[in-house]
Amino acid sequence: MRILVTNDDGIYAEGIYALAGALARVGEVTVVAPDTQRSAVGHAITLTDPLRVTEARRNKKFFGYATSGTPADCVKLAIKSIMKGKPDLVVSGINLGANSGMNILYSGTVSGATEGALLGIPSFAISLDTFVRPDFSVAADFAAKLAQALNKKRLPKGTLLNVNVPAVPRTRLKGVKFTSQSHELFRDWFQKRTDPHGQTYYWMTGKFRTSAAKPGSDVEAIDKGHISVTPIQFDLTDYKFLSELETWDI
Ligand code: MN
Repeated sequence: MRILVTNDDGIYAEGIYALAGALARVGEVTVVAPDTQRSAVGHAITLTDPLRVTEARRNKKFFGYATSGTPADCVKLAIKSIMKGKPDLVVSGINLGANSGMNILYSGTVSGATEGALLGIPSFAISLDTFVRPDFSVAADFAAKLAQALNKKRLPKGTLLNVNVPAVPRTRLKGVKFTSQSHELFRDWFQKRTDPHGQTYYWMTGKFRTSAAKPGSDVEAIDKGHISVTPIQFDLTDYKFLSELETWDI
């Protein structure tokens, strides 16, 4: 099994190192990831600048290819230019912080996997629900297990899996729940500050969620200590409203 690994936290992040290590137990891993932090770039691609690629080393060994692009760029470039032949699987992560609810739209991690699915390759994104003192080992082991399952099972065309792992010790983990995407949003606002030159700048900050999570959703599963696996797709059409829209006389 040939596995392409990417992320949005950058090739030197801890999460992608744990992920590549675990996936190397089940397949031949190629890492192509952004050379810097690229969180929340969504599905952006680079058109006006060239993409630079350098070899990245970690622990004194070749680890993968660092690019100046976004996660979607990395997957495109890997499949069309860097790898010889298509991979059997694309895995993006392990992200520092959950990618649940509407945040999926902003997530570079999810977009890395989305690009894989767009190119017709089974793909999943995986994120750990914490920003402090992360232990990626549980999520990494689950990624290897899911990779093996995807070697046998088939995903529908245009569907990818979005995995979120709660940051609980292995002994308190409650198993896997298959979930729907919740509609939770970051409630964000801007801190207004003054720079050393007297100029005003703004810095976005926020809090995730103020309401109760939708039953059966990703957020609910993570909160209760389950690994959440959500099948997602990228046809954004509102089919229910489409038929009403067709009655508009415009
Ligand atoms: Mn990230």
